[in-house]
Amino acid sequence: MRPDLFKQVLSDKNKIIIAQIAPAVQVSIGELFGYEPGTPLYKKLIFALKKLGVKYVFDTSFGADICVVEESKEFESRIKQGEFPIINSCCPGTVSFLEHAYPDLVGNMATVKSPMEVTGALIKSYFAEKMNILPDNIFSIAIMPCVIKKAEALRPELRVKGKLMVDGVITTKEISEILKENNIELSKCEDMDFDSLMGTASGAGKIFGSSGGVGEAALRNYAYINNLPLEKIDKKNLRGEEGIREITYSSGKIEFKMLVINSLRNASILLNDKEKLKKYHFVEIMACLGGCVGGAGQPQSTKENLEKRRKGLYQIDEGLKLKVPSQNPEIQKLYENYLGSPMSRKAKQLLHTGFEETCVDCYQN
Ligand code: SF4
Repeated sequence: MRPDLFKQVLSDKNKIIIAQIAPAVQVSIGELFGYEPGTPLYKKLIFALKKLGVKYVFDTSFGADICVVEESKEFESRIKQGEFPIINSCCPGTVSFLEHAYPDLVGNMATVKSPMEVTGALIKSYFAEKMNILPDNIFSIAIMPCVIKKAEALRPELRVKGKLMVDGVITTKEISEILKENNIELSKCEDMDFDSLMGTASGAGKIFGSSGGVGEAALRNYAYINNLPLEKIDKKNLRGEEGIREITYSSGKIEFKMLVINSLRNASILLNDKEKLKKYHFVEIMACLGGCVGGAGQPQSTKENLEKRRKGLYQIDEGLKLKVPSQNPEIQKLYENYLGSPMSRKAKQLLHTGFEETCVDCYQN
């Protein structure tokens, strides 16, 4: 969505505007208002968005937590069938890359939608139902570090009953310009919390914005649901800077092997070696260097800025007691009161997709 179209929506009194903020935006928006890269300013951004006319603001990290919970369930069934590796499906850059360059690996992608799409689908279903709001009256806007998310929001296979779950995507740079045009200065904004029902996220959901974060989140949940020690997770390697990182988690007889690929420039080296790929259970591929903190919708991404933003996300995680997606109380309530269980019929209808059909749908219409 173009920023001018979002500005028109802001003046439409018939729409209830609901925003979500991606974790990478939460540690970079400040740079456009004179703060150090990595400063977590999402509490002020929530206030600023409400001043603009947004009614509710949610955390995309909540959606990231759900992705991990759904993926964990999918992983269980794949492990029984020996279908490895699972490749993350949260990055539309990676999804398009695999569709075009490695179509034989598309079936390896997790079927769960991205955190943005999961959050969007739940805004227009779960939240709308609980708040007695007609989904058609909602305008769902996502504040993202990523320009490719604009195209992702329009993909046919991510719609539910033919309807968009995210109506518009605005980047970090674009939202800062809109705030400035409206004379909203972040330093003058109060701190405000995300709205309830979909506003609590674990530290695992927060670190999704960093290279290695998606893998670390998956590993934390895997260890937790299998009663294995979280302390054995190799954080140093997961959080490293190298283009390709191999992580092994071992506890007793369990051995879980993961590969983290930091940016698409490093992907082909391994994706061409199908035999080698099979030895990993999970492969994280994020298209941008450093992960979403280095997205094309972000302020200028120097090496130093990227590292500070990544550090900012890990600091948020450090400050949170809640580390594991399956322990998130709002997510437990969501399953108890609405979805039933991970990979239930309802969860599949709202939160999963099949990327195999994507090329046909997207490029023939
Ligand atoms: S890694 Fe880059 S392309 Fe992928 S979701 Fe993040 S910002 Fe978008």
